[in-house]
Amino acid sequence: MNEETSLFQKEEKYFFHTYKRLGLDIERGEGVYLYAKDGKRYLDFFGGLAVNALGYNHPQVNRAIIEQVQKYIHLSNFYVQEPQVRLAEKLIGASGFKRVFFGNSGTEAVEGAIKLARKWGANVGKTHLIGLTNSFHGRTMGALSLTERQKYRDGYEPFLPNVSHVGFNDVAQLRAAVNDQTLGVILEFIQGEGGVFVVSSEFAGALNELRQKFGFLIIADEIQSGIGRTGKFFAFEHFGVTPDIVVIAKAIGGGLPLGAFLGNERVADVLSYGSHGTTFGGNPVACSAGLAVLQEVLEGGLMKRAGETGDYLKKKFVELQIRFPSLVKEVRGLGCMLGVELSRDGQPVVDEMQERGFLVNCTHQSVLRFLPPYVVTREECDLLVQELRDILGGLPQ
Ligand SMILES: *Cc1c(COP(=O)(O)O)cnc(C)c1O
Repeated sequence: MNEETSLFQKEEKYFFHTYKRLGLDIERGEGVYLYAKDGKRYLDFFGGLAVNALGYNHPQVNRAIIEQVQKYIHLSNFYVQEPQVRLAEKLIGASGFKRVFFGNSGTEAVEGAIKLARKWGANVGKTHLIGLTNSFHGRTMGALSLTERQKYRDGYEPFLPNVSHVGFNDVAQLRAAVNDQTLGVILEFIQGEGGVFVVSSEFAGALNELRQKFGFLIIADEIQSGIGRTGKFFAFEHFGVTPDIVVIAKAIGGGLPLGAFLGNERVADVLSYGSHGTTFGGNPVACSAGLAVLQEVLEGGLMKRAGETGDYLKKKFVELQIRFPSLVKEVRGLGCMLGVELSRDGQPVVDEMQERGFLVNCTHQSVLRFLPPYVVTREECDLLVQELRDILGGLPQ
């Protein structure tokens, strides 16, 4: 039995079977590349599922982590901690929100946002949360109640009360659903797990107008789309909507577990001492990494680069669509968050890409999802498109 077989066999034996793992045994990463133990190199357009915005082995992130590890790894939130405060100052400066709470993950940030909204609603008599169909907000019971996709919900009933869903981009359903009892509407302006679907300007406009009328909160889930991925700090900035609460995670920690919810002045004073908390949230090592990420994204030009390189890649995908109209149904997304919907099962294409040294994700059965690190170059995008063109060319048209 060689070492690799045994590793996969042990995984199968010891773990709950929640993850269908890729058949790769990775040794290390460098920039946009991953290297397997067998020496094979992969160009990574999967990007740790939108976490690895700066790529692998980034010197500034590594230095920030090492320096903080040598000072302290944990104190507890009983202490004021400089790495947290510096990250908070930077985040609030970049986002325009008023206050922040740090947790460890996306789903925890969503739980916190639900609690913040509920506390706010309790004072003004609003109780009902609305999510969108095809959404994904996380796996814990509150976030799962807002998540609409059935494959994540099956068997976990009952969910939170006072939650309903309206059709994605369905303005009429939204108008019919909201009223004075509406506490908040939560949405991904670009749905990630759902297959890279983008909110329409009509829907965004209606949401703004209805908030004006009924006074509910808009909660943006920017866990996948935020931190500069689309060329703006938050995806909602493309849509002329300013949410009251935003949740972030994934890219912010530079690969360490970190998430947060932020709120504007409407909700700034809702939480009081002891009304929410966490043991590990805002870990100082993760916050130090987060500060390095924000410096690179904001001052190092990476946000601009993510937008421009992503737009270039999208243009190349549109060319593929023109060339293979029967195979490529639609190209969607912004910046380094792109989806190519095929008119057939995407998995064989993803498998063939992997065989050729390119890592790509397939979501929603037929959508190839691209979440490259922002440091990816146009030349690397060209390499990917070349292979994809070759693979599509070999399929029955
Ligand atoms: C990944 C994701 C989450 C959940 O984040 P976890 O860190 O896995 O809990 C929530 N919302 C969106 C939009 C995501 O992409």
